[in-house]
Amino acid sequence: MLQNNNFSDKELYELLTTNDKSMIENLHKKARDIAQKVYSNEVYIRGLIEISNFCRQGCFYCGINRANTRIKRYRLDKKEIIECAHRGYEFGFRTFVLQGGEDPIQDDDFFVEIIEEIKKLYPDTRITLSLGHRSKESYYRLKKAGADRYLLRHESANRSVFNKLHPADQSLDQRVDDLVYMKSLGFHIGTGFMVQAPFSSIESHIEDIKLIRKLKPQMIGIGPFISHKDTIFKDQNNGTSDLTTRLLSILRIENPYALIPSTTALNTIDENGRIKGILSGANVIMPNLSPSYAKENYTLYDKKKNKGLESAFGLKELDDLLRRYGYKIVVDKGDYKGE
Ligand code: SAH
Repeated sequence: MLQNNNFSDKELYELLTTNDKSMIENLHKKARDIAQKVYSNEVYIRGLIEISNFCRQGCFYCGINRANTRIKRYRLDKKEIIECAHRGYEFGFRTFVLQGGEDPIQDDDFFVEIIEEIKKLYPDTRITLSLGHRSKESYYRLKKAGADRYLLRHESANRSVFNKLHPADQSLDQRVDDLVYMKSLGFHIGTGFMVQAPFSSIESHIEDIKLIRKLKPQMIGIGPFISHKDTIFKDQNNGTSDLTTRLLSILRIENPYALIPSTTALNTIDENGRIKGILSGANVIMPNLSPSYAKENYTLYDKKKNKGLESAFGLKELDDLLRRYGYKIVVDKGDYKGE
């Protein structure tokens, strides 16, 4: 087993603020080397299915939050979701990620049926859920139905920042509690945060890194904050590719075995984001399997990419790009290799 290699607060501060190019390049190289040791040159792909943009939550940064009356709401039915999985399986995906707003119509019975059906049709696959906060009973039923992994970002480990990003009906403690509970049920859990979200700071990102040390999630997802025109944060600055990739490398070095995606948000603010993420130590890419009307309306932030390298149809192109840098896409469930 590789050792966890945690930085001191001072080292983190320096790595996140330095202008020393060689120091930053060393950071990325060290992260790449660790990813290579654990996951070789293999990049795991996950088929993302955006199942609904109805949401009962009011997250201030998010374009599909309940207060937005300007978007066209949609939800996929069971048949459409199974069709996405079918298409994904043919493309070579062995993990499906069901992600959506917190849509009250898509209840536990709905998901239990879908999870059981996908597992019956494609037993050699993993199902990841990314459905926001649910009840304990719900997490239990979804796990029992066959779901394998759950993504729920903590968004900010600093309580005051968290509270400025969310209405009072959400709390950091609630999210942490959810994650700890899901882990106890046997879910592989994923958490993470938005880089340079409004009110965040280098100090709050250091707190993010330290919360991740405590939670020891199998998956870590981070991406730059990107403003959405229909939210109160519409005039806020976007996060940068530079800080996002430094944080990716730090997280890889501290969490050698974690499954870490190079995210769509990173590729949205930087046209070379996908590959920069991989070269900073990420080892997962999540192309989109959603039907086009879903892609167009699943607008978490402005100009969200859903074509080319972001689409399942762009898999060959993505593989060609990765191969130019010595990596390749593999047809694999892509399980966590840590303990
Ligand atoms: N509703 C579910 C899943 C969809 S949101 C949930 O809340 O977990 C998935 C992730 O998108 C969020 O965790 C958040 O970190 C990210 N996101 C939302 N709005 C964003 C924005 N404006 N910029 C960047 N990332 C955003």
